[in-house]
Amino acid sequence: MPSALITGVTGQDGQHLSELLLSKGYEVWGLVRGHSADRIQAYRQEFPDVHLVEGDLTDLGSLIRAVEVAQPDEVYNLGSLSFVALSFRQPEATADVTGLGPLRLLEAIRLSEQPGVRFYQASSSEMFGKVRETPQSESTAFYPRSPYGTAKAFAHHSCVNYRESYDMWISCGILFNHEGPRRGSEFVTRKVSRGVARIALGLDTHLTLGSLEPRRDWGYAGDYVNAMWLMLQQEQPHDYVIATGEAHSVRDLVVTALQSAGLEPDVERYVRFDKSLLRPAEVDFLVGDASRARDELGWAPSVDFVGLVDMMVQHDLRLAASSRD
Ligand code: NAP
Repeated sequence: MPSALITGVTGQDGQHLSELLLSKGYEVWGLVRGHSADRIQAYRQEFPDVHLVEGDLTDLGSLIRAVEVAQPDEVYNLGSLSFVALSFRQPEATADVTGLGPLRLLEAIRLSEQPGVRFYQASSSEMFGKVRETPQSESTAFYPRSPYGTAKAFAHHSCVNYRESYDMWISCGILFNHEGPRRGSEFVTRKVSRGVARIALGLDTHLTLGSLEPRRDWGYAGDYVNAMWLMLQQEQPHDYVIATGEAHSVRDLVVTALQSAGLEPDVERYVRFDKSLLRPAEVDFLVGDASRARDELGWAPSVDFVGLVDMMVQHDLRLAASSRD
């Protein structure tokens, strides 16, 4: 039975990946920080078969112990401070967890001298930032526009450097935005699906957002964790862009969500603008070219933009209705 260690196991992707690896017969280990008993408890209830090991990406000793205990064949490094807006308010913490964290984990694996461990790094399309070309592929230069993006770029380059310096088996997935009902409520897609569900049920009259103009390439998280796994099953490690190849604005997102909830797609009526939600530097337009993943991994997304938004809105309608009753 292969074994895998997942950092960030309580997050959106960590949950999807736990589900996928358990269904494939893996022994799954999840790294959890000690600080959030509620989050760990909720995770434990959903995934009683996953072994939890305590550790923090800011603490090398705990990572060395986690690798020793789990003895993984595959390590998926999903742990990060992943909310771009927060990274502007906590740049140093973001650099520590999201940038240096992967470097510490690579060191923990290198020092463990366990031969053949395969490592997946959760790189991000936010590294492209102020884009140098459209669409963005594995060869597009990085121009990050946030402390989150710069931290991810550092981690990505560190992974490439460890692969080349120590012959370690490391693949980075440069994933474009991916969402679903497990998305944290601070992210714009979930904010919109929850907000629209509450309006539809008469619990709110509007939702509050920053700019409606940024365009993103949004896919479904369930599809994207499958790409992570496929990357680690290849003969050679490589970096891959994972994206749908289609971009939509935040305004499109709101319109589609309102339609999914059976409301008039009247954005001016339902959305209030709050300029405090604008970022010091914005990423205007991201869209990915996932040709390499399609050709080498045989990967393709199964859920399109409308299907994704509908899945999230219908989930949040059920959730809001049950909490109202
Ligand atoms: P998420 O829901 O925000 O989950 C982040 C996870 O990181 C949580 O489990 C959190 O654990 C953990 N974490 C935070 N600080 C940590 C620390 N100091 N040590 C160990 N773990 C820590 O993120 P996600 O959406 O699942 O994304 C997974 C990964 O892919 C992240 O690295 C993210 O940056 C990257 N990514 C995501 C997207 C996307 O659209 N979702 C796109 C590209 C890349 P707690 O429960 O303890 O807080």
